Amino acid sequence: MLTCDTHDTWTQFLEYIKKRCSQTAFENWLAPIKVLETSADTITLEVPNIFVKAYLLDNYKKDLCSFLPVDTQGNPAIKFVIADQTERKPIQPQKPLQVQPVVEERLEYELKLNPSYKFETFIEGPSNQFVKSAAVGIATHPGRSYNPLFIHGGVGLGKTHLLHAIGHYAKQLNKKIRVHCITTEAFINDLVDSLRKKSVDRMKRFYRSLDILLVDDIQFLQNRLNFEEEFCNTFESLINQNKQIVITSDKPPGSLKLSERIVARMEWGLVAHVGMPDLETRVAILQHKAEQKGLKIPNQIAFFIAEHIFSNVRQLEGAINRLTAHCRLFNQEISEELVEQTLSELFQTAPKQRVSVENILKSIATVFQVRVTDLKGTSRTKEIALARQVAMYLAKEMISESLIMIGASFGKTHSTILHACKTIENKLKNDESLKRQIALCRRNINN
Ligand code: ADP
Ligand code: MG
Repeated sequence: MLTCDTHDTWTQFLEYIKKRCSQTAFENWLAPIKVLETSADTITLEVPNIFVKAYLLDNYKKDLCSFLPVDTQGNPAIKFVIADQTERKPIQPQKPLQVQPVVEERLEYELKLNPSYKFETFIEGPSNQFVKSAAVGIATHPGRSYNPLFIHGGVGLGKTHLLHAIGHYAKQLNKKIRVHCITTEAFINDLVDSLRKKSVDRMKRFYRSLDILLVDDIQFLQNRLNFEEEFCNTFESLINQNKQIVITSDKPPGSLKLSERIVARMEWGLVAHVGMPDLETRVAILQHKAEQKGLKIPNQIAFFIAEHIFSNVRQLEGAINRLTAHCRLFNQEISEELVEQTLSELFQTAPKQRVSVENILKSIATVFQVRVTDLKGTSRTKEIALARQVAMYLAKEMISESLIMIGASFGKTHSTILHACKTIENKLKNDESLKRQIALCRRNINN
């Protein structure tokens, strides 16, 4: 326990760290921290948000212990207070969500959710199982598990569907919950509108009164510098109150051209990828969509269509619509011939494989500082085994091939690949540094 003035030791800690981190990191993370109170055995710090608290503890716990008082468990004895909260309470992680009383606001509060985008109508397969269960978890316990949930993946793979499903399900479980679903474009328009009408405060109050904010297509925030900051502020104030945020994007946070601050915040919770469904799932989606339209497609024909449309679920839907129209119009039975006639222009040929396993291995070897030959070998040392699993995880994410093919490139079975992906997904839930390493590999591979 320290006997000297703890305030001074905090200053000494800052000086010590200043020499060991970048100026930007220092200004972003450490400079905004204020000392509120000190005593011989504890220090109370005011942090602008929970990210700063976590950043401090994740990165400097050991150093903090050398400079500051330590509690009985050997942790730095710091009480954290979040700035700008009317009630200054120490931060309680995992605080149960409290539904806001309905605020007297007229700002068009209307639940704009697509009625057909529900969990019940979302077909699961290996490419989206993980993200779907995260989405269900969040809708069940908003603000209490992963926050934010960041869903990324290519066009037409069900991101918006899942986003709306979260809203529907949360509402179904708790009618009073205030859910707002908005596209990034609409958010920007709202802001422009409020600026014009000089009602920005009202808009801020509205957003901050929500329990769940669902934001679609965050990539449209890129190159909108003025709006980025306002978005980030709204985002932080909701997260600080344990309100749930879900964001969708066409790329992972690290590949978005947004400020470091906002990328760091988006990576904070859970980043989940939604990939193209495999053949079996595509068939199930086709059958499901056809059934909804009152059309019965023989299995063999469903496989035939799903084999030829493989990069976008929306196109599968388009195929069903076209087929339904054709059958009704000409009163024809579905046959392979008819399918070819009506859908041939939708059919795709296999795309050129842009990312190869070899590219992935090279990038992993650099980032994880292992040799490509080791990754291809059978060594089970911890470092190599982890790097190898990350390679499999990225191969599944970035290569539009079946798991069997990907497995073959590694000399493994598809179940080994699946196991590796699950292991990495689990690790990613609470391993920030692994998250960053993987983001780095992705960037490396894409360049
Ligand atoms: P994204 O937002 O990723 O571009 P959408 O969520 O708009 O894609 O999905 C495109 C269409 O495909 C929607 O009509 C959606 O219902 C459907 N869809 C996508 N994935 C699935 C799935 N796994 N199960 C059922 N429908 C799906
Ligand atoms: Mg979408």
